Amino acid sequence: MTYITVTNGQRTIPNTPTIPFIAGDGVGAEIWAASQPVFDAAIEKAYGDEKKIFWQEILAGEKAFEETGSWLPDHTLDAIEQAKVALKGPLTTPVGGGIRSLNVTLRQTLDLFACVRPVRYFEGVPSPVKEPEKTDMVIFRENTEDVYAGIEFAKGEAETQQLIQLLQEQFAVKNIRFPETSAIGIKPVSEEGSKRLIGAAIDFAIAQKRPTVTLVHKGNIMKFTEGGFKLWGYELAETTYKDTCFTMNQYQAIKQTEGVATADAALNEAKAQGKIIVNDVIADNFLQQILLYPEKYDVIATCNLNGDYISDALAAQVGGIGIAPGGNINYNTGYAIFEATHGTAPDIAGQGKANPSSLLLSGGMLLEYLGWQEAADLITNAIEEAIRTKKVTSDFAHAMDDAVELSTQEFGSLLVSII
Ligand code: NAD
Repeated sequence: MTYITVTNGQRTIPNTPTIPFIAGDGVGAEIWAASQPVFDAAIEKAYGDEKKIFWQEILAGEKAFEETGSWLPDHTLDAIEQAKVALKGPLTTPVGGGIRSLNVTLRQTLDLFACVRPVRYFEGVPSPVKEPEKTDMVIFRENTEDVYAGIEFAKGEAETQQLIQLLQEQFAVKNIRFPETSAIGIKPVSEEGSKRLIGAAIDFAIAQKRPTVTLVHKGNIMKFTEGGFKLWGYELAETTYKDTCFTMNQYQAIKQTEGVATADAALNEAKAQGKIIVNDVIADNFLQQILLYPEKYDVIATCNLNGDYISDALAAQVGGIGIAPGGNINYNTGYAIFEATHGTAPDIAGQGKANPSSLLLSGGMLLEYLGWQEAADLITNAIEEAIRTKKVTSDFAHAMDDAVELSTQEFGSLLVSII
């Protein structure tokens, strides 16, 4: 078996890497069975015999629990650590048993700090907005901090009362409205955590020649956490990335001292030089902006909880909530898990109705991560053609006129024939 290696942040990709996959629960087995031949066909078409992925099944979720008694066996984490990169289908969230969510556990254990969600429109997909093709963004959601750290204290517990007392007595906190019946949550947001995420977003914008990076935050209310995120983002762009970025923070500073004409001139010059413009938007306004002016936004960097809401809102806007792909990446260690973003769909499991496109496009992101762009493009193009010619799985067929409804497996076979 040959594996991807990472030395000083530099990845070396063998031509025949072993890549583990977790098929997942519910519809997972069906979408995996339909998708693997598509990945293999795209790689073969793009590179002939030169490149090939050796897929290695690893277990997590219900299948793992049934076979090993553990929802997330050590062997699974070991295999991902060895291979660096993995692909996964949806997993049932265990109820009880000490694990909050397998997905959150995987992200935190491997410190996969960036949740990357590209959101674009596929022509023909039923969408609730008039011009869905104007939305083309890539969201970088911080994946390890914020309220997702899970630091919560339940109402009425002794430790919650102790914490409330500490806040009141030691920190002069006066505004816990109902101290006897409050639950308390803690929101850690660090400079390091924010800067590594925002740096990844800027690196992506540079590599993909995207014109803007927007910091989305709620710093007007959470001044030190989300306000810090914005401040550190601008600081990073103005120091580490000073040769490639111009910020709206710099624009405002020039405007205040030298007037609007000089600030406009500096902004225009930065654009002419091909610099990335880093700006910021408050999260609630951003949710209006993406409906009103989606074409103004490209790469988004945001804290964990905002990113959760924004990813779903944007995916729904392009009608793609069932086909949105995602990746969880640590750009320093090279670890990355690409995953279907939908759940296990228990209501349609075993019926051949599931749309495998989310897993397929996530596999496409994995191929891009390996630098195998040609193979990734073949998959995207095949999905585009299938949707354009209205040969789709039941989720889309129901919402399109004159569509031909295909089973999960038939849809996969169609893509193989297009490739
Ligand atoms: P869900 O995404 O499984 O289903 C919501 C709706 O979308 C259902 O009607 C379902 O049929 C449909 N749907 C989902 N994927 C589809 C596909 N590929 N093709 C066609 N239709 C599809 O969400 P849920 O019902 O809230 O959750 C079910 C289980 O999945 C829970 O255990 C939940 O914790 C888990 N979950 C896992 C992940 C993950 O592993 N990334 C994400 C979300 C939910």
